[in-house]
Formats: sequence, C-alpha cells, structure tokens
Amino acid sequence: MARRKKIYEGKAKTLYEGPEPGTIIQYFKDDATAFNAEKKAVIEGKGVLNNMLSEYFMTGLNTIGVPTHFIKRLNMREQLVRAVEIIPLEVIVRNYAAGTMAKRLGIEEGTQLPRPIVEYCLKDDKLGDPLVTEEHIAAFGWASQQDMDDILSLALRVNDFMAGVMYGVGIKLIDFKIEIGRVYDGDFQRLIVADEISPDSCRLWDIASGRKLDKDVFRRDLGSLTDAYTEVATRLGVMPKGSTPMARPKLIN
Ligand code: 5GP
Repeated sequence: MARRKKIYEGKAKTLYEGPEPGTIIQYFKDDATAFNAEKKAVIEGKGVLNNMLSEYFMTGLNTIGVPTHFIKRLNMREQLVRAVEIIPLEVIVRNYAAGTMAKRLGIEEGTQLPRPIVEYCLKDDKLGDPLVTEEHIAAFGWASQQDMDDILSLALRVNDFMAGVMYGVGIKLIDFKIEIGRVYDGDFQRLIVADEISPDSCRLWDIASGRKLDKDVFRRDLGSLTDAYTEVATRLGVMPKGSTPMARPKLIN
C-alpha cells in the first residue's frame, strides 16, 4: 500500500491526506503536553479514548444540526474529517471560573459565572496562545464580523449541548476550547466545528465528588489520566464498563 501523505503533526494529533479530495484523516496520538509543551508524557490509550469521545460529541452535534468536520471514525485511533481552513483562534467557553480565568481575575476556581463567557485566544504556540479581543480579531483580519457572529453562535450551541450531555452523566462542564474551520460548498462558505472535542480540551468535574476528569489530572499531577478519561467514556456508554482502552495481550502458559 502506498504511504499516505502526512499533512501536519501537532502535539496530540497527526493529520494525513484523506481518500477523497477535501477529506483528512486525523490520527489521535497518546502524547500529552501541557504548559505550551513544557510538560510532556506518553499516556497509553489516551489517543483511543479521545478518538472515541470526539466521535461521540461531534456525532451528537451533527445530529442536532450543529455542523462539524466529523465524517466517520475509521478505527481505534483515526477518524475521517472534512478538510477545513482553520480560523487562527481558540474559542473558549466558560461556565465556571477555572484555569487562566480564575488566576487572571482572582476568582476562586469552581465559582459559577453569571452566564457563559466566551473568550478568544490567538493560536500561536510561540506566543503561548495569548488572549485577544474582538478588536484585535477585526483589526488584524483573523476573522470578519460575520464570522465572529457565527463563531459565537456555534460556541454557545456547543456549550448547551456539551453541558446537557455531561449533566446527564453527573459531570459539570466547567469550560472547554473549540476550534472553528471554514469550508466551501460551491459559491458558499460556512464555519463548522473542527479539531476535536475531548477531555483534553474541556474541564469536567464529577458533580458528586468534585473529582477532576480532564487534562488537569495530567497538568496538576492528580492521578491517572487514562482512568479519568475512561470514567467519562464509560459514563457516556462510549466504552463498555470494565474495559481498558488498550487491552494488553494476555500471556498463555
Ligand atoms: P485555560 O485558559 O483556563 O487554560 O483553558 C480553558 C479551557 O480551554 C480548558 O478546558 C482547557 O483545557 C482548554 N484549552 C485552552 N487552551 C488549550 C490548548 O491549547 N489545547 C487544548 N487541548 N485545550 C486548551
């Protein structure tokens, strides 16, 4: 079989050319990074869990009419997605104060916000993804005013969906990050949800115990990341109870 063409290698995923024009294969790696890649580890099974969970969330969003890049899952680590032009912004929605917002504004982590707050960061690893305002976005032409209206609407719809799904399995959606891509359908262009939605890009707290079930487990050394993500996947029915994302071969005497 001919080797497929690698298009891009990121911190957690590798993108390959897809089988049809306008498609891409997303391969989910086990690599975990935090603090702009200052902290790194390989976490066995993380890629499998994020592939399955991202499929679950994106399929749900597609079903309720929120457009995403997701086409289908190909195997345990890969999914077929639409090729998009990524808008160079990280779109963050927050329901409770945590992370950089809690620190920046001196609000105790876990404080409920008066309403969902949407923030934008410039996607630029060298600069550490700085927070930017809509003024910056308009002035530097990273997105148009129409794009920003569409991005805000997409972000809030994703928030409603994700918060509801999570609440249904006893998990509080603290915040999350999404990326948005532009696609062209004939003469028309539109914005869709791209990249991934997984515990790597959300903060998820167990409602009953407050236990963190997201990448903060890795960032803050709070235990096993695989266990946390498996808990989310099991509650959502994405992984059967008692399964491991990377079942090890059993030795036979
Ligand atoms: P914070 O700004 O508090 O660090 O992050 C807010 C939310 O966005 C968290 O759920 C965090 O996981 C997510 N987030 C922010 N930046 C990134 C990023 O560069 N990569 C990923 N995977 N998630 C991010």
